[in-house]
Amino acid sequence: MASVQTLSHVYPIGSRIDGDGRLQIGGCDVVELAERFGTPAYVVAEDDLRARARAFIDAFRAAGHEDFEVVFASKAFPATAVMALFAQEGLGCDVASAGELHLALRAGFDAAKLVLHGNARDDAELQAALDVRVGHIVVDSGDDIDRLERLTAGLGANPQPVLLRITPGVSGHTHEKISTGQADSKFGVGLAEAPGAIARLQGLPGLELRGLHFHLGSQLFTLETFRDGIAAIAPLGDFPVYNLGGGLGVAYTDEQQPPAIEDYVAALVETTREQLGAGKRLLIEPGRSLVANGGVTIYRVVGVKRNVSTWVSVDGGMSDNLRPMLYGARYEADIADRLGGSSRVHLTGKHCESGDVLIRDVMLDDPRPGDVVVVPVTGAYGYAMANNYNGVPRAPVIFASDGEARVVVRRETLDDLHARDV
Ligand code: PLP
Repeated sequence: MASVQTLSHVYPIGSRIDGDGRLQIGGCDVVELAERFGTPAYVVAEDDLRARARAFIDAFRAAGHEDFEVVFASKAFPATAVMALFAQEGLGCDVASAGELHLALRAGFDAAKLVLHGNARDDAELQAALDVRVGHIVVDSGDDIDRLERLTAGLGANPQPVLLRITPGVSGHTHEKISTGQADSKFGVGLAEAPGAIARLQGLPGLELRGLHFHLGSQLFTLETFRDGIAAIAPLGDFPVYNLGGGLGVAYTDEQQPPAIEDYVAALVETTREQLGAGKRLLIEPGRSLVANGGVTIYRVVGVKRNVSTWVSVDGGMSDNLRPMLYGARYEADIADRLGGSSRVHLTGKHCESGDVLIRDVMLDDPRPGDVVVVPVTGAYGYAMANNYNGVPRAPVIFASDGEARVVVRRETLDDLHARDV
């Protein structure tokens, strides 16, 4: 048995190693989950998601700010059960397409708690949001204003609330593919163009410009970035609503220490008071920081090959977690009943790409075919970006809580792979 018997803080809240050295998540033995539900599978500690949702809400109250809304960025984990859980916890929902809008309504969100985003929405997508009267549509460009002007021409007495997305020219200090606040971005309206867009929106009878939005990027570890963003938009006018996007970073590896939710919210509240004045309605849109650490992926080791390195192949890979291949994202892993270990290996997927490596140079305890490997912190943007590369059916989502486990999204079948054929 490996020597490491304390669990990294990256695992879901409530996870533990039992007396036999086996990992439990949501009170469920992970090896037993693998036997019962098969692998690969996303396992989600339901209580972890609830705890993080409550931490955001409590943080606003602790900071003395009552007029707020925590809006789940559903792109991070757009499974109905996850969205329904956050609806129950009283959160709003950020949707970035007609598809996410459909899912959010199905999951039970009140349309008034929805925020519609997107840099390329056609008439049909905007109309779908107008039909149900979402809480806010976030305007991303002059073309959006043209479209909305046309689509809301008849709404005069009951205008659609909108926010204007600003790219404040602040760098998120994160991977370039998830940095969005810099001036040269496909998202939002730059500081120089903003006054013109604001004036236009204020002149349209079918729209009510309530305020401004920014989203500076994802996996941000520096609260100064958010302070800079708020300071940058302050000169654009005085509005009742500010939506400060998402982006709070999370720990993927043991040594990473992102800001605490409480410190992040306190910094936002303090800076908005200083820069924008008191009495503003504040919205935030956390995605990753609500769901990343609550989820793990479990795999079965299929083979161990030794050449220059040791290659441990599992039964999933880039079809269930694209992040290592998209942005070089770094993860940790363990064998579910022998945590820790001193064998340096590459944990690799089953796909026909040399780049299909989940984790390079990860330390495991002498992995062997049949072992159950668990990769923590896969709750965000794993399920969301899953695909059928190599004809691999997508993995199920299992909720675990208080020792009970249940399937909330079933595994795809081989027949699902051709279900859309005509
Ligand atoms: N809001 C907007 C507009 C986004 O585009 C995103 C992510 O891309 C988020 C919120 C969520 O970001 P994160 O998952 O980093 O919290």
